[in-house]
Formats: sequence, structure tokens, C-alpha cells
Amino acid sequence: MSEYDVIVVGAGLAGLRAATRLAEAGRDVVVLEAEDAVGGRERTDVVDGFRLDLGFHVLNPAYPAVRRWVDVDALALRRFPVAVSVRLEDRVVRLAHPLRHPSSLPATLASGLVRPTDAVALARWAGPTVLSARAAKTGADRALSEAWDRAGLRGPLREAVLEPFLAGVIADDRQETSDAFVRLLVRSFAFGRPGVPAAGIGALPAQLADTARRAGAGIRLSHRVTGIHPHRRGHRVEIEGADAVHARAVVLSTGLAPGLDVPPSRDRGLQTWWFAADEAPTADGALRVDGRRRGPMVNTAVMTNSAPTYAPRGQHLIQATCVLPSEASETDVRRQLDDVWQTDTRPWRLLRRDDIARALPAQDPPLRLRRRVRLGDGRYVAGDHRDTASIQGALVSGQRAAEAVLADLSR
Ligand SMILES: Cc1cc2nc3c(=O)[nH]c(=O)nc-3n(C[C@H](O)[C@H](O)[C@H](O)COP(=O)(O)OP(=O)(O)OC[C@H]3O[C@@H](n4cnc5c(N)ncnc54)[C@H](O)[C@@H]3O)c2cc1C
Repeated sequence: MSEYDVIVVGAGLAGLRAATRLAEAGRDVVVLEAEDAVGGRERTDVVDGFRLDLGFHVLNPAYPAVRRWVDVDALALRRFPVAVSVRLEDRVVRLAHPLRHPSSLPATLASGLVRPTDAVALARWAGPTVLSARAAKTGADRALSEAWDRAGLRGPLREAVLEPFLAGVIADDRQETSDAFVRLLVRSFAFGRPGVPAAGIGALPAQLADTARRAGAGIRLSHRVTGIHPHRRGHRVEIEGADAVHARAVVLSTGLAPGLDVPPSRDRGLQTWWFAADEAPTADGALRVDGRRRGPMVNTAVMTNSAPTYAPRGQHLIQATCVLPSEASETDVRRQLDDVWQTDTRPWRLLRRDDIARALPAQDPPLRLRRRVRLGDGRYVAGDHRDTASIQGALVSGQRAAEAVLADLSR
């Protein structure tokens, strides 16, 4: 039976970060991954020459963990405009980040979407957290809808912009999510300009895997772990169709799938429809939302206006995202897209529909950052469900689990 200091189960962002830290500290570590590629929820497939991420993802380079552990330049990030366009009854309005696009401020104010009272309420709600993350980490937390009510944030800014925009980000169309978590997200949007790697979101875990291998970690794909049992001052890890391996410590970074005694977490789902088109309905790369909420879709974007690398030359890729559970049919989604983009989508070709039931761990109030990573018997747990439902949270959890392992092994 092969022997390691540490076995990491799962090669998502959390597992890859943990393995890198452990290998850099000189530990003999191997990552066992059930699938045939690294990345977990962050994967990209090439379909008919189009790069399809598993659902609509963006990478925010302002995340502290990304700044610290990711070579963003090497990913050749294709950034989206820091703006959202909103389909209203009789027009489309584009709201841009006032500090990044100051020239757009008059149009934003003239849109009728941001009334002075709403702007004040928005500042009251998010302002302190934008100035300091501590504002979200200390103090009371509650459901987002309640927090907006208390801040006096009502009207079109809330209903036509914030609700649909955030529904696609937090996979929650009812604003039950922790207000503190959403304010932290808003803070990261205020400072970063998100984008997608030129080669697809899967380039992020691919880079992390390269870093882990260079540090000395082994990564074995198509190695599904089926059981973990105490054995000789450590654990015996059983693998489907392969010999068992042994390690003094095991890091469980298996995401949101139940099993292997990972503490359960409630999850939220997302559905993304990917369409190919010969012509783009707009030249704008901004995310578009339906301010009238006339259908299942919460956001849509012409990916190729920001990331031309996502489609073969001369073609366009459009994503449309719904929150699960959803009974939406292709007809429902196309009807809403026709209306939102003011175009005939019949020539668009559906490339794929991604239903990701376990997209994100639910972040219910009160927000609990830094959930325990030690299971107490030489097993550790990492994943976004230990920190925050994000790339940031997954990377930090992997680092924390690795630090706990290192501290315990050196005792
Ligand atoms: C559609 C979608 C959009 C998102 N958009 C964003 C975004 O824009 N910005 C953002 O910050 N975050 C986003 N996220 C969240 C982000 O992708 C996750 O927080 C992060 O990828 C979680 O990483 P993880 O390592 O914790 O888990 P996972 O990625 O789930 O990794 C778990 C790994 O464990 C493996 N595994 C499971 N069981 C076993 C087993 N028995 N044996 C071996 N291996 C096993 C799995 O195959 C997988 O590779 C999005 C997520 C989804 C689904």
C-alpha cells in the first residue's frame, strides 16, 4: 500500500490550494480526483469550437486569495465592462460603475432607475462595507431582503436591477442569503473588474494544478475515493478500481456532494443555457437583466463581446442563466431572450444547457466565516462551504485546512 503524509480528496480549487501549501512545506502529498480533469465546479469544455464553462462564471481579480495565489496575467483575463444593462418596458438602460466610467453618470441619473432616495439607501446599505470589509464581518446579520427593507432600499433600483443581478450571482431569487455575505460580494465588485480567462474558467484550476505539481504534489485523475478508514496512526483510503493508499492525514475537499462524512451543507442551484449565433444582438459586453422579470432568466451576456476566444472566428456565444429549481423550457428562455435582446433568436443554436443543482453552498444568515476544518481524527475538510461561496472562499479554505494539517503533523 502506497504511503503519503497527506492525501487530498478532490482537485477543485480548495484541494489544489491545500496540496500546494502542503507540498511547499515539504510534505509528501497526493491529490485523488474522481473526474478525468481538475477543477471541480470550474471546468471548461470545447463544444463545436466554443468554450463552454460549466455554468456562467467570472473571476474577480480583486479577491485577496486570487491576488495572492493566482497569476492572473498568465490567464489573459478578458474583462467584462463594470456595468449592467437593464431591459425596461420601453427601453434599455445601461448603469455603469460611477468611479470606473464617470462619463456614464449623467445617463445613470437620467435613467429613472436610481432616484436620489434610492442612491442614499444604497449608500447606507453597502457604503460602510465598501469602505471596510470589517463592517460586514462584525455586527448583526440578517436576510438580504430584510436588510434592504431596513436601509429603505426599495423601488426600481432594487426590483429591476439589484434583485435580478444578484439572483444570478448568489443563486437565490428570494433574497434569503446573508446580507453580510452579499455586501462583501458587492465590495469585491467595487474594487475588481471581473472577467474570464481567455481559455475558459478551467484555465484557473489548470494553473493551480501546475503550481501544485511544481511544488511536488502528485495529482491522480479518475481516482474516485469510496471509503476512508482509521488504520495504523492514519487512514486507509479506498479507491474505486485501484489499490488503497495510506496517509497520516486526509483532507476532504470533495465540494458539495454528500458522502465521505463531510459535514453537510445546504446548496443552491443554477442553470445556464449556451447559444451560438452568427450575429451578436449588441456590441456591448455588459451583463443584461430583465428589469420587468418576465421570465425565468435572471441574466444574460454576449460572452464573445468581452471574450472573443470563447467562439470560433466570426461567431458569437451568448449565455442565459436561471436560478434552480426551474421548470423553464427552451421556448420560455428564447421568448424572454427575444424580448430582452430585442432580436429574433430563432437562428441561434442551443449548444448546451448546464443544470448545476449543487452550484453554491447556501450562505444563510448569520454569516459564519471560517467554519471548522479539523474533523479531529486526522481528517480535515476544505471547500467553499467552509468559508464563502466563491473562488475566494474555496482557496482560503484549502489554505486553512493545509495549515491545520501542518500544525498537527509537526506536534
Ligand atoms: C455555475 C457556477 C457559477 C459560479 N460562479 C462563480 C463566480 O462567478 N465567482 C466565484 O467566485 N465563484 C463562483 N462559483 C463558485 C466556485 O466555482 C466554487 O466556490 C468553487 O469552485 C468551489 O471549489 P471547491 O474546491 O470547494 O469544490 P469543487 O469545485 O466542487 O471541487 C470538489 C472536487 O472533489 C471531487 N470529488 C468529489 N467526490 C470525490 C470522491 N469521492 N473522490 C475523489 N474526488 C471527489 C469533485 O470531482 C471535484 O473535482 C460558481 C459556481 C458555479 C457552479
